[in-house]
Amino acid sequence: MEKGTGFMDRWILLCDLDAFFAAVEVLDQPHLKGKPVIVGGMGPRGVVATCSYEARAAGVHSAMSTAKARELCPQGVFLPPRPQRYREKSQEVFAIFRRFALMIEPRSIDEAYLEVDGDGPEMAKAIQEAVVRETGLSLAIGGGANKVVAKIASQLAKPGGIFWIPQEKAAEILAPLPAGMLPGVGPKTEALLRKEGYATIGDLQKASRERLQALLGERAGQSLWEKAAGQGPEFLDAPVPPKSVSVEETFPFDIPYSQVPSELRKLSRQLAKRLQGRRVKGHTLALKIRFPSFQTLTRQTASPQGLQDEEEIFSLARRLFEIHMVRGQYPRRVRLLGLRVNQLKKDEGKGRQLTFFPLLRPDDPFAGALPEESRGEGFPP
Ligand SMILES: [Mg+2]
Repeated sequence: MEKGTGFMDRWILLCDLDAFFAAVEVLDQPHLKGKPVIVGGMGPRGVVATCSYEARAAGVHSAMSTAKARELCPQGVFLPPRPQRYREKSQEVFAIFRRFALMIEPRSIDEAYLEVDGDGPEMAKAIQEAVVRETGLSLAIGGGANKVVAKIASQLAKPGGIFWIPQEKAAEILAPLPAGMLPGVGPKTEALLRKEGYATIGDLQKASRERLQALLGERAGQSLWEKAAGQGPEFLDAPVPPKSVSVEETFPFDIPYSQVPSELRKLSRQLAKRLQGRRVKGHTLALKIRFPSFQTLTRQTASPQGLQDEEEIFSLARRLFEIHMVRGQYPRRVRLLGLRVNQLKKDEGKGRQLTFFPLLRPDDPFAGALPEESRGEGFPP
């Protein structure tokens, strides 16, 4: 996978659990595996919440009345929902997301956008493997440089796959897909577009912006025109701020004290990168050290001005080590080192577009021409 098509090697993933409620039921009652499982309201007005792929093959889909589903799939296993259990499993999955993502924008109990850095497709693979292994659930992941392509890719990844849309191929991959697959295009808009001769995303790509604006209004037309070309927000909205950020390393061989500073330097660099990625500053720093005997100590200190910078983290970490460890009566070898920052606050000082999105400087003549949603937050007044 070629790199550099995402902004600063940052990627957006849309992670979506497959047939979530039904999958949890099958997980808890393994004899249901392979059967058409339908979770929904059982009363006379009940509707289907989720159904397994076996039930989908019989024509059942969510939001259909349970009565209709019984007609289509009389052999189905019909179960009432267990919301508490679904929340539990959802929390397990989101905890895994938090281990990998710089930021998370939840969309529902079983779906979230993740912002990751580094090798996007490799990250997607690691996240999917962790979710399958640790929760027993099936997860589809779509990825690319922005939310629009990630969302569409996730639909192509279902069930259980990973689909990646490289930005330079986005228009070509999107072209044959129905217009209704674009995020924000509901059945009503889709019907209207179809009536006007725009059945596929490719049809929309050939339309002029002015034409779509005349049809849908200035803003919605502009937005649809951009989405059809595979463009969209490269940052997440309403991110869930993490409570703490930590990094640690267990060494393959116990290391001597003399080597600790250079290891702390590496950990400080990783931590700084993650704090900057999440656009937060930490106000306490904890150093964790584990000796060959597995005895583990944590020592922490406050940083009123906030930590985000590698140099600041390193000098504080080194001081903690020197004050508490070097002077203490401890073994002179170390099995594990870790750094953690707590009390995170949003870094208000630096707007992220100033740091990561130079195109959107306030003095940039193009800034006003960009869609509202891609401007992000913290934009200086
Ligand atoms: Mg889902």
